[in-house]
Amino acid sequence: MTASGTSAPIRSSEALRKKLAKIGLHREADLLVHLPLRYEDETRITQVARAPWGEPVQVEVVVASCEVQFRPRRQMVVRAHDDSGELTMRFFSVYPTHQAALSEGTRVRAFGEIRSGLFGAEMVHPRFHKVAEGEPLPSELTPIYPSTAGVANSALQKLIGKALAAAELDDTLPDDLRQQLQLPGLARSLRFLHRPPPGTDLDTLHARNHPAWRRVKFDEVLAQQLSLRRAYLARREKGAPVLVARDDLGARLLDRLPFGLTSAQLRAMAEIAGDLGQPYPMQRLLQGDVGAGKTIVAALAACQAISAGWQAAFMAPTEILAEQHYLKLKDWLEPLGVRVAWLSGSLKTKARREQLAATASAAQLIVGTHALIQEGVDFARLGLAIVDEQHRFGVAQRLALRKKGNNPHQLMMSATPIPRTLAMSYYADLDVTVLDELPPGRTPVKTRLVADSRRDDVVGFVRRHVEEGRQAYWVCPLIEESEALQLQTAQETYETLLGEFSGLTVGLVHGRLKADEKQAVMAAFTAGAIDVLVATTVIEVGVDVPNASLMVIEHAERFGLSQLHQLRGRVGRGQYESSCVLIYAGPLGEVARQRLKIIYENSDGFEIARQDLQIRGPGEFVGSRQSGVPLLRYADLEMDADLVEMARNVAETMLTVHPDFAERHLQRWLGSREELLKS
Ligand code: ADP
Ligand code: MG
Repeated sequence: MTASGTSAPIRSSEALRKKLAKIGLHREADLLVHLPLRYEDETRITQVARAPWGEPVQVEVVVASCEVQFRPRRQMVVRAHDDSGELTMRFFSVYPTHQAALSEGTRVRAFGEIRSGLFGAEMVHPRFHKVAEGEPLPSELTPIYPSTAGVANSALQKLIGKALAAAELDDTLPDDLRQQLQLPGLARSLRFLHRPPPGTDLDTLHARNHPAWRRVKFDEVLAQQLSLRRAYLARREKGAPVLVARDDLGARLLDRLPFGLTSAQLRAMAEIAGDLGQPYPMQRLLQGDVGAGKTIVAALAACQAISAGWQAAFMAPTEILAEQHYLKLKDWLEPLGVRVAWLSGSLKTKARREQLAATASAAQLIVGTHALIQEGVDFARLGLAIVDEQHRFGVAQRLALRKKGNNPHQLMMSATPIPRTLAMSYYADLDVTVLDELPPGRTPVKTRLVADSRRDDVVGFVRRHVEEGRQAYWVCPLIEESEALQLQTAQETYETLLGEFSGLTVGLVHGRLKADEKQAVMAAFTAGAIDVLVATTVIEVGVDVPNASLMVIEHAERFGLSQLHQLRGRVGRGQYESSCVLIYAGPLGEVARQRLKIIYENSDGFEIARQDLQIRGPGEFVGSRQSGVPLLRYADLEMDADLVEMARNVAETMLTVHPDFAERHLQRWLGSREELLKS
C-alpha cells in the first residue's frame, strides 16, 4: 500500500466520520485493523421449536402482532411464528421505526438467544432484518465490530468491506522473516478475520488463537516495540561524554566496604561500566527487589563518572530517602576525597546558595530530591544522572534531569519488580539490568495475618520484641483520599500507642513533618533511641535500619501489593529473625482477600508482581508511565508473552536491516496513534 493510501481519511459523511474518530478510526487504513470482537452465525436458520435455549441462533419468523405494553414496564411485544412454533420478541425501548418494520405479516430473520418466557419461546432485543420469502442466506459468518453509539454494525461492515477491497495489503514483514516466525501473511490474516470463510470454527475464532489472530497480535506488539526502540536509538544519536575512569576511586570504595559484592551486583556493575565508556548516553534501568543492594552499584557508577572528570547527580523521590542516601554516600566517598553536595527543598536560603554554588562548580556528586531539577540549578559538568525509585517520578521529571546536562548518561533504579513481559513493553526504550540475587545473610521475613480483634496480642508481641533489644515499625492505616485525615490518623495512632507502650520510646514520622524534624526522628531511630517508630508510608521506600526487625501494618487490607512488599522489605536487613504482622479489619472484599493471600504466601517481589498483574491488569501497574500499553488492543501481555519476546528481537533486526518495512509497519499499526507514545 502506498503512503498516501495509508493516510487517506475515511470516505464517509462528515457526521459518520466524527463518530468513527471517537473510536480511533481516522484513516481508511485504520478500518483494516479494526477487527471483529466476535462473530455471529447467520448462515443457518434454526426452527423455533428446535432451537437450543440460551445459545445464539437465527430464526426466520412471520409477525402475527406487534403491540406496545405498559405493564410491568413499557415495552414492545412482537408475536411471531415459523412452521415449528411461536416466538415472542421483546424490546424494552419502543422505536417507531421498529414498530413500522414489524407490522403484521412481515417476514424477518431474528438473531439472538431463545429463552423460556411467559408464553413459551422468547427473544429479548434480537437483531433482526426484514427478508423476502426464500431469500438466500449469507455464506459467511457475520463479524460484529467494536463500535460506538450511532454507528450500526452493518455500516461498519460495509465501510470495512470497501476498505478491504480497495487496499493493497503489502506485507509489513519481510518474507524470510515472516516464514522464520511461522506467521501467516498480513493480507490473508486480515481478510480472514474480517470475513472468515464458511465453516470456520467459531470457538477457535473467539478464543483468538487462530494463526491469523496470532499474526495480528504479533504485529501490534511489534509496532509498539519498534516505536519505543526507535525513540531509544534517536536519543543515542545525540552522543554523550565518554566516562572512562582515570584513577582507582571505585576500587578504593570497594576496599572500604565491610562486604563484597554479590555476583549479580558485579554483573550489573560491568554492564554499567561498559555503557558509561560509550560515546552515546546510557539509558539503563537497574531493577532489583527491595534490599538487593542497588545503592552501591549506583555509587560505583558515580565513581566512574567522577574519576573521568564529570559530575554525577543522584535523585530520590522523598526527603527521607534522599537524605539517607546523602549520608551514606558522604560516609563512603568523602574520606576518598570526593566533594558531595546536597540539595533539597527544605534547605535554608544561605545553605541552599552554598550548595547551588558547589553544584555549579566543584561538587562531584550532588544528591537530592526533585530540588535537583528545579530552575536555577546549574551543573558544571553533569555526566551521569541517577534516579532512584524512578517509578515515583513522572516522565517529565526524569526528562528534566536529562536536560540539566549535555545529554548525560542515565541510570534509573526501581525496586518495583514488574513482570518481564510488562517490563519489555514499558521499558522497551531502556536497557534493563536485573539484580536477581539478595546479599547473603538476609533473614527471611515471617509474615503473619492477624484480625484486628487481636490487636492487643500484637501490642504484647511488639513489647517482647523490644525487650529483646530490637526495634519495630508501626505503619498507620492508609487514608489515600485525604492528606488531612491521614495526618490525623497518624497522630491518633501515635497517641494510642504511646499509652499502650508505656515505658518504651515511641516516635512518629509522617510526610508533613518539617525536614529537620523528620531528620531528627530518623536519626534517633537509626541510633536505637526510639523503640517503636509510628509511621505513614513515608518509610515505604529505601529506609534501612538493620536493628529494626518487626514491621506492623494496620489495616493492611487498604494497601496495594507493591506497597506491602516494599514496607515488608524494611525489615529482614540485619542478622535477627524478622517478622511482618499484617493487621486486617474484616469483612474483606474479594480483591483485598486475594492481595493478603498473595503477600502472605510469597516473598519474591517478581512473583508478587506477576500475581498482582493478574488481579489488576497492566493499565494501573506502572503508575505514571503510560507509554506502550494503551496501544495494545488485541494482544494480552500475560497471555501473549511469547509474542512480546519474539517482537522484541524482531524489532531490532527490522530497524537495522529493513528500515523501510519498519516504517511501513509503524504506519499501518500506529499511524496517528503513535503520538500516544510520546507523552
Ligand atoms: P536496595 O536495592 O533496596 O536499594 P540497598 O542498596 O539499600 O538496597 O541495600 C540494602 C542493604 O544491603 C544496605 O544496608 C547495603 O549496605 C547492604 N548491601 C548491599 N550490597 C551488599 C552485599 N553485597 N553484601 C552485604 N550487604 C550488602
Ligand atoms: Mg534503594
